[in-house]
Amino acid sequence: MTRRLWSDFVSELEPYVPGEQPRVDNLVKLNTNENPYGPSPRVAEAIKAELGDELRLYPPPNADALKQAIADYHGVDIRQVFVGNGSDEVLAHAFNGLFRHGKPLLFPDITYSFYPVYCGLYEIEERRIPLTDSFEIAVDDYLVPNGGIIFPNPNAPTGRLLSLDRIASLLRRNPDSVVCVDEAYIDFGGDSAIALVNEFDNLLVIQTLSKSRSLAGLRLGFAIGHPELIEALERIKNSFNSYPVSRLAIAGGVAAFADEAYFRQTCDTVIASRVALVEALEKLGFEVIPSAANFALARHPDYSGEYLMAALRERKIIVRHFHAARIEQFLRITVGTPQQITLLLAALEEIIA
Ligand SMILES: *Cc1c(COP(=O)(O)O)cnc(C)c1O
Repeated sequence: MTRRLWSDFVSELEPYVPGEQPRVDNLVKLNTNENPYGPSPRVAEAIKAELGDELRLYPPPNADALKQAIADYHGVDIRQVFVGNGSDEVLAHAFNGLFRHGKPLLFPDITYSFYPVYCGLYEIEERRIPLTDSFEIAVDDYLVPNGGIIFPNPNAPTGRLLSLDRIASLLRRNPDSVVCVDEAYIDFGGDSAIALVNEFDNLLVIQTLSKSRSLAGLRLGFAIGHPELIEALERIKNSFNSYPVSRLAIAGGVAAFADEAYFRQTCDTVIASRVALVEALEKLGFEVIPSAANFALARHPDYSGEYLMAALRERKIIVRHFHAARIEQFLRITVGTPQQITLLLAALEEIIA
């Protein structure tokens, strides 16, 4: 019925399917790469201080206080910073404003599954470049005509990191394309390509406060790049929604960047837990892809990913499984607290005993 009221375009869209957020007590939730620790206590304080009559007013449309905090933190000019309602929104604007050139957008065959969705939404031709057999991005494979290049670093859901040297080489050899590095997980063990933005005017780096700063629920993401790339994103944003970042989000985001000690401590804890998790999985016979993120992609030689996921779910532990070529056998496991990891390992031990 309703379908007849839809445009052909909306009927043919293939929307993204997010990892589930079940409301089950005592669930060990290791499926969407959220931080197992809460945000800095200063975030809640800042948000509370913002709760009042001012909420009747629209927020500052350019979120300048947050942009300035990000610019100061990363040592760039405020004109090099764009902020949005989660990095998914920032990514969407990048696709819309920077990748619609009538040539294919290049991204890895195994990558963030929102990229093909945005290609569908913005009618961008895509070309998937296979990762190597060891799931690495080979930048030499990206020297084909393109309307842009995008990949996460570390890649998701593999966790593999690409070095800044390789990224610089890719940028140098694709001077006429925007190269977008989606650094959702960079704080868990990689060097940010923000170090390259003053050298390459075709580089756009996107980060989020959802993972390393424990603020997935507040919805904040940002991009850093040449002021002209940022201006393109602003033009899209101001043609779509003038106020994507709320007063509460601006206050919380500024507070998050002000608490460096808390940030470092949670990242270090997650990294140490990842190392322990990988070691323990390998002891159980899993093959684990080397990860620089807050998750690990792992497979067991004797049990399918689908079977293990279902067996874990029966034990109130949820992880992510992808019905996708080359990674069908794998599970993507978010790094939880040491206690959650202990529960996961005990369950796996029981399942594969
Ligand atoms: C989580 C994630 C995002 C989205 O982050 P939000 O800021 O919460 O929208 C973007 N890219 C990748 C690769 C991610 O894993």
